[in-house]
Amino acid sequence: MKLDLSTLDDASFRQLFIGALFFKVIVQSALDKRQTNHIKFHRDEVPSPFSNSVTLEEHSFATDYTLTKLRAGSIFRLINTALLLFWTAGGGIDKVYKLNQNFSLFGTLTQGVTFFLLLGLISEIVSLPQELIETFVIEEKFQKNKTTLKLFIIDKIKGIGIALLMGVPLLYTILFVVHRFENIWWIFSYILIIGFQILMLWAYPTLIAPLFNKFTPLQEGETKEKIINLLARTGFKSKGLFVMDASKRSTHGNAYFSGLGKAKRIVFFDTLLEKLTPPEMEAVLAHELGHFKKKHILKMIAASSLFLFVQFFVIGQLIKHQNFFIGHGVHVFTIESGLALTMMVFPIYTFLLTPIMAAWSRKHEYEADHFAAEQSNAEELVAALLKLHKENSSVLYPDSTYSSFYYSHPPAIERISNLRKIKDELLEVSPVVP
Ligand SMILES: [Zn+2]
Repeated sequence: MKLDLSTLDDASFRQLFIGALFFKVIVQSALDKRQTNHIKFHRDEVPSPFSNSVTLEEHSFATDYTLTKLRAGSIFRLINTALLLFWTAGGGIDKVYKLNQNFSLFGTLTQGVTFFLLLGLISEIVSLPQELIETFVIEEKFQKNKTTLKLFIIDKIKGIGIALLMGVPLLYTILFVVHRFENIWWIFSYILIIGFQILMLWAYPTLIAPLFNKFTPLQEGETKEKIINLLARTGFKSKGLFVMDASKRSTHGNAYFSGLGKAKRIVFFDTLLEKLTPPEMEAVLAHELGHFKKKHILKMIAASSLFLFVQFFVIGQLIKHQNFFIGHGVHVFTIESGLALTMMVFPIYTFLLTPIMAAWSRKHEYEADHFAAEQSNAEELVAALLKLHKENSSVLYPDSTYSSFYYSHPPAIERISNLRKIKDELLEVSPVVP
């Protein structure tokens, strides 16, 4: 297949861009509308499978929380769409590029780096109000936020520091490659990015995460005992069990693995440990082990690497065509401005991959649940899921089109009924001898 872009003129690119952008906004708004109507309609009644486990008060609280987030999300979406139009058709990229030329005393490479730093700085400033509203207005109103303004500022400074420390050398290397290898720069840049991602798999848990959180070894007790037994039973080697002080930022709970290679660290949020009983913790970890055993993480990494390769290939082709630039409102024809442009507009063109990726991820969730039901206990996982849904105030019964499009995890109602089905099947396979 040959990608022939020379036939597309700037007007075609413009129509394609505006069409894709409006398509995305319309689909997202329609989905939001469906979800809003659906959960509003069910606000005053707990869905029947949960009538014993969730109170009406908890249910309507979760509904209100979700409605607030949906409303804020649609406003932010409009603002972000306007910003994208400013950057492209509004000549934003051109303006920043020209502004950056004032730094011309540094030479081409450094000039490229400062161009991206300037873009990054502006995006950071522009997105700050949104982050502040999400954390200190919405999460605060629903008692989910634990972050103080001081912690927020410290996190920001650390985050920017790390981004500069790691991003600047990477940018220099990529831009060096870009100018050194005119036609095949995209292959080398791709390899550099993949290398950087692998480096981050190692650096994140060992160097970066400890700058933001405290990790303490899991204390002796029933939970630890159960987990060690589960790890032995499933043949999983762990490099240590840790508890992370997530509660200093938010009340949301989670558990994850980190690290490269065979032995991984297992990290539990303290918020999770507080709420779940030892058998429930075991079931949650069994689910996470399921992801690992079924190679879900590896498959996701392979898929995203392949996707990134395709993206780099397409960028490599597009950047040769001035019509692509002009059609998107950019009149500086350099690889730097082209890279900035594609980074901004690509999510518009890949939007329809969202439901595909979500469906794939939900398939993995079912497989991990199956593993957990086999290796641990389906009912304990159900109990844990209910607690987590309550704690996160997630709606138990979302609109089906909305959840099929966006949800990386099946809705609670489906997951729980599936877990009970697996439990019954397992009982049939190995009947309890009276
Ligand atoms: Zn999962």
